This record gives sequence, C-alpha cells and structure tokens, in this order.
Amino acid sequence: MSTKGFTTTILHGDRQKAIEHGSLSKPIHTSVAFGYTDARQLASVFQGKEPGFRYGRQGNPTVSALEEKITRMEDGHGTICFATGMGAIGALFQGLLRAGDHVVSSAFLFGNTNSLWNTVAGQGVGVSFVDSTDVAQVEAALTPETKLVFVETIANPRTQVADLARIGELCRARGILYVVDNTMTSPYLFRPKAVGAGLVVNALTKSIGGHGDALGGALTDTGVFDWTAFANIYDTYKKNPAKNWGLAQIRAKALRDFGASLAPEAAHTIAVGAETLALRMERASANALALARALEADDRVAAVYYPGLASHPQHALCTQLFKSYGFLLSFELKEGIDCFDYLNRLQIGIPSSNLGDTRTLVIPVAHTIFFEMGAERRASMGIAESLIRVSVGIEDQDDLLADFLGALPA
Ligand SMILES: *Cc1c(COP(=O)(O)O)cnc(C)c1O
Repeated sequence: MSTKGFTTTILHGDRQKAIEHGSLSKPIHTSVAFGYTDARQLASVFQGKEPGFRYGRQGNPTVSALEEKITRMEDGHGTICFATGMGAIGALFQGLLRAGDHVVSSAFLFGNTNSLWNTVAGQGVGVSFVDSTDVAQVEAALTPETKLVFVETIANPRTQVADLARIGELCRARGILYVVDNTMTSPYLFRPKAVGAGLVVNALTKSIGGHGDALGGALTDTGVFDWTAFANIYDTYKKNPAKNWGLAQIRAKALRDFGASLAPEAAHTIAVGAETLALRMERASANALALARALEADDRVAAVYYPGLASHPQHALCTQLFKSYGFLLSFELKEGIDCFDYLNRLQIGIPSSNLGDTRTLVIPVAHTIFFEMGAERRASMGIAESLIRVSVGIEDQDDLLADFLGALPA
C-alpha cells in the first residue's frame, strides 16, 4: 500500500507512465483501435505476452488510468471498469458463475441488483436472500454449490449494515468468494479488503464520480481471494499467475463477450470527480449526521434511519469500521403527513432517483425505485410505504436543515 494519504495517492494515481504531451490530467483517448509498427508485437499483445491495447471494448488508456486510480483507492490488486454499476455486478454472473452454482445474497439490496439476482435465478443459478446483519443466517444458507456471498455495506434505502467482518471470516474459512458492494460508503469511508472481501463493487456513477454527470462501474480484486480454490476458472486464464485469474476471466468472459465497456469520455469525467471524493464525503457525511439528528428530534417524524445515530442497530459496528457514516439516510413522516406534499414543499432537496451527487436528492421509495417488486418484498426489506430516501449533498448545512424542517407541516 502507498504510504501517502488517500487524496494524494488518487490525485497522482493515473500517471501510469510518462506524462503524455505534458497533459497533467489523463487525455481522453477516443481511438477504438490500436496500431502497431511490428505485426509480431500485435500478436504478442493479443497473446497476453506483453502489455498493450487490442480493441476499445476490452481496454483503453483513459479507462485503464481510471482503473489504476480505483485500484489505489481500494488498495487492491487490479480493477476492471464497466459502463455502469449494474454492468460490474452483471459481470460477476457472466464471468464467474455457471448453471448449478449458488449465490448467497443480502436481502437488503439496491433495487436493480435484487432484480438481477432474480433474473439469474431463472437462468440456472440458485440465489438465497438472507438477513446479512446476522452472520448465522449467511452461514445457514451456504450449500456445497455456493460460489459467492454478496452484500452491500450500507443498504439503500433502509441503511441496514451487513455484519461485514464476520461474514468475511466465514467466507475465508469456507474458501468462498466474498463480494462487497462498497457504493454507499466508497473507498474513502471503508475498504472492504479490511474485512476479507475478494472483489469490491463500486458504482462510479455515485460518489466516486460524484457529480451526477457520468455512468460507470468497477470491480476491484483486492488480492485477498485464492483463485486456485475457485472451480469455475477456465484453463486459458490459468496461464496467468493465480492472483490474476479472476480478473483475466472477467475481462474476457464478461467485459469482452458481453461488452458493457466504459466510454473514455465517461472515464475522464469520473476520474476528475474522483479527485475530490474525500472532500465531498466528509462534507456530505457531516451534513447527513446533522440532518438525521434534527429529524430524529422532531415529533412530526416517525422514524429516521442513519448509521450515525445511536438508535441505529449497527451504529457501534459502523463506528468501528467506517471513517464516518456516509451520505445516505431515510425517514418516515408521522401518519397523516402526505410524503408527496412534503417533498413538494422542499426547495433544496430535489425529487430524483440518483445518489451520491453534490446536490441533495430525495425520493419516495415505495412509489418509485422499489415499486416494481411489490408490497410483500418491500415489507421484507423493511421499506414502509411512506419512506423517503435522502442522498445528502454538500450544500451549506444551515440551508439544508432549514429546508427539511421548514417543510414539515405546522
Ligand atoms: C446505483 C447503484 C448500483 C448500480 O449502479 P449504476 O451505475 O446505476 O448501474 C449498484 N449498487 C448500488 C449500491 C447502487 O447504489
């Protein structure tokens, strides 16, 4: 690991080689193809005998600079970027799983990840959804076919926090790949490598890009998992050193074959946004804590869910594992207060479905992002029909508190 601090490391982390033409920020390479003066060199790049780029779908210099930056953020071994966060999660299925395999997933999930696992279940991979705040439930769901365990750090929207370290110990003891979606914490607040995660998912669209202006996703191999224990690696990818097997297979079987490649323009936008991740996370976390405390103290609010509150069931765990408690909170208004009318009275919080933006965004969860799954599954995830999710931004704190408290009915 670098001995330098987080922000110093990521600011300089995309300078893999010499500075190109003096440009300090990594240039946007739009070329899809890469030419070689020696045809033998082209062949040797294709055969993986020397580094180089083949075709834009599998790799691009601008994207690869961002991959290097994210590897450093996660203190990992390597990273592959995808067009979206869902592209990165889908790559787990495309690149690593086969019919008959089994996955244990947290029941508290980003809505589209929940939908993806259900799709996968229809394609021959068994999926068990468990309460990931309790390692005993994860353990009880394991079968001899279980290839990976998947959890989120802070689940959106109800902020349940998986029992991250104990699940990590369980997976290590059983030789099972542990995948942690770090989107809600970001590598600035938490590095899943510390709890034994083998692969880390980041939706770059959210706080790493940070400005709501580019889609992207990443899978980082932390270097912790022993790929020789993973039965699904094809012989072709075993020509690499074992610590590279996972990413080599994912880059070919998922990125190359399914094609959810990150565009160089988006990679550049995300890389610029990433430079201020630490500054934005500190500010948004402080805002979120102040807002959560103010809402909890108000008797027109029925419940507030935020890991920074002493009332949160996993508060102590979060204090131990995370640098601060993040930008995501949710709350329920007292019965009789219409959540749509309330949201319409806000002047700073914008009704919108994104997360991790510089601006504060609000959404009535049951009526939008979690509508398709139906009332029963919502109830099982602890999502009340009146739940409001807030992705807290970096506005001035007084303005934010005045907006959310002022919109409560007298
Ligand atoms: C947004 C999000 C994703 C998916 O990212 P996209 O870039 O929107 O595809 C995955 N996991 C979590 C926790 C997210 O918040």
